[in-house]
Amino acid sequence: MDRYRISEGAHLDLRSMDTRDTSAYPSLSKKKAVPVLAQMRRELADLQRVMWADGNHALLVVLQAMDTGGKDGTIRKVLSGVNPQGVDVTGFGVPTEEEMKHDYLWRIHRHAPAKGRIAVFNRSHYEDVLIVRVNNLVPRVRWSNRYDHIRGFERLLTDEGTTIVKIMLHISLDEQKERLEARLADPSKNYKFNPNDLDARAQWDEYMTAYEDAITETSTSYAPWFVVPADRKWYRNLVVTQTLIDTLKGLNLSYPVSDHDLSDVTVN
Ligand code: ADP
Repeated sequence: MDRYRISEGAHLDLRSMDTRDTSAYPSLSKKKAVPVLAQMRRELADLQRVMWADGNHALLVVLQAMDTGGKDGTIRKVLSGVNPQGVDVTGFGVPTEEEMKHDYLWRIHRHAPAKGRIAVFNRSHYEDVLIVRVNNLVPRVRWSNRYDHIRGFERLLTDEGTTIVKIMLHISLDEQKERLEARLADPSKNYKFNPNDLDARAQWDEYMTAYEDAITETSTSYAPWFVVPADRKWYRNLVVTQTLIDTLKGLNLSYPVSDHDLSDVTVN
């Protein structure tokens, strides 16, 4: 799904991107996407099974989005076919008191995936150059050095056998309004409404600038960013699933050959 990949050094203008784009699947609609996603999920599950058996590679999927951007729904819809034993999902919220006593990558690194496994970060170390920057939680000199740390950290992970895919689910301000209103209107969604989300909404422009800088500074050949149009959930699910499929296919995985000579073995 290279159309949404941000190449190294590319200029990124999030405000001019079409968050309702469906150009990768022009003949599909919400309804027609259902069997297509089901087929993709099976393909992803098969690839994950080989990765697990092979045991030499790990996959880290970083998910970032503005509130209501669909991180939870994406995880549910994209990964529901994959063997749960091979996947670890970690959400990164406001750092705890203990986490605050360490450098910002301390809590992140311990959740990086083991060989054979997929780790999904629901928010990530990127919060340390997003909310931290927008809300001035540390001085500029601190957060601006972090792009360099992050590139180094991700280089370390990839050099040691982890493949990294970073995905921003890109929604529009209007779409967020609709989703927040839906959370208010529907009692079964009330629990998802967090009044703090309105603060971040009021800072939308600052967040877009922070995202643009973070993505341009850290989209590298070894840990690329994908900015996925996410106003349409069915489309977002297809694009994210296909991106993971493409990534795992690129590893040329195969089932390990048994150490045993099985040719004469019979099971009575
Ligand atoms: P989500 O909104 O992803 O469903 P939460 O409701 O738990 O999850 O919100 C997590 C909050 O924690 C977000 O507002 C996010 O910006 C914030 N957060 C995450 N990492 C950091 C960080 N390093 N410093 C400050 N705030 C953070």
